Amino acid sequence: MKPSPIAAVIGHPIGHSRSPAVHGHWLKRHGIKGHYVALDISEADFAKALELLPRIGFVGANVTLPHKSRALMLANQATDLARRIGASNTLVFRGTTIEADNTDAEGFLRNIRAGHPNWMPRRVALIGAGGASRAVVAALEDAGATDIRATNRSPERTAELVRDFPGLRGYDWSSRHDLLEDCDTLINATSQGMLGQPPLDLALDRLPRSAIVNDLIYVPLETPLLAAARARGNPVVDGLGMLLHQAAPGFFRWFGIMPEVDDRLRAAVMG
Ligand code: NDP
Repeated sequence: MKPSPIAAVIGHPIGHSRSPAVHGHWLKRHGIKGHYVALDISEADFAKALELLPRIGFVGANVTLPHKSRALMLANQATDLARRIGASNTLVFRGTTIEADNTDAEGFLRNIRAGHPNWMPRRVALIGAGGASRAVVAALEDAGATDIRATNRSPERTAELVRDFPGLRGYDWSSRHDLLEDCDTLINATSQGMLGQPPLDLALDRLPRSAIVNDLIYVPLETPLLAAARARGNPVVDGLGMLLHQAAPGFFRWFGIMPEVDDRLRAAVMG
């Protein structure tokens, strides 16, 4: 008898991950005899884990902090998009061959377009230049953004992002309030505003009221930034949809069905 497919999310720490709830919901809903488990694997053990998992029957894995760039380096094959972003969040195992993809960019775009199907980013303020910002920049470039203004508390990371994505412009952290002028989109890709963290220190006065404001954070769903943006009339998009939409392509590859992102899933994941 063929064994049930099993996939994982690998990170360190991993206790906070909502991915098992996402994939568990889809497995149950589609009546698939499969499994999706969370694996807490340290940086020292990551390469060994990637070697072993395909051999013991895993069909693939999601990868989260701190392993995303290492996953790309250790894979045998990678999509152009994963290489351009410099990180992989979705691995498919074929025999002992590891294929790396990055579905965060697609998740980011689908999340905003779910509520704003005609959204065409042009002038974008991107606050934060950490790991997640790289997929955001690739997605914005592919969606046609021509003026991406990036800033980060630590200037080295802004410089790194500009080096890897020469089309964007880097700004000093002190000018973050001013670069919102004329923007049609504002993205928070920092951890500021997450549960347990202070709000993002950003004055919205110069942001046009028509600009879409998206926070990558999903705990809480309404960050102080989104609450402030909503209060002054900006359309807002929380980060949960990005998490849900980035998960769907992996589920399809491992379990053979393209799952739905809908309110039942949202409720199951946040409940
Ligand atoms: P990283 O650790 O790579 O980056 C963290 C970012 O937050 C950096 O830009 C960092 O700046 C900034 N930051 C941290 N502390 C401060 C501070 N006190 N003031 C200003 N900036 C600060 O994390 P990721 O890029 O992976 O994640 C960023 C956020 O995006 C997280 O909240 C995460 O939960 C969310 N996320 C959401 C996803 C989704 O599917 N919705 C997917 C991935 C991430 P510095 O370089 O100066 O430290």
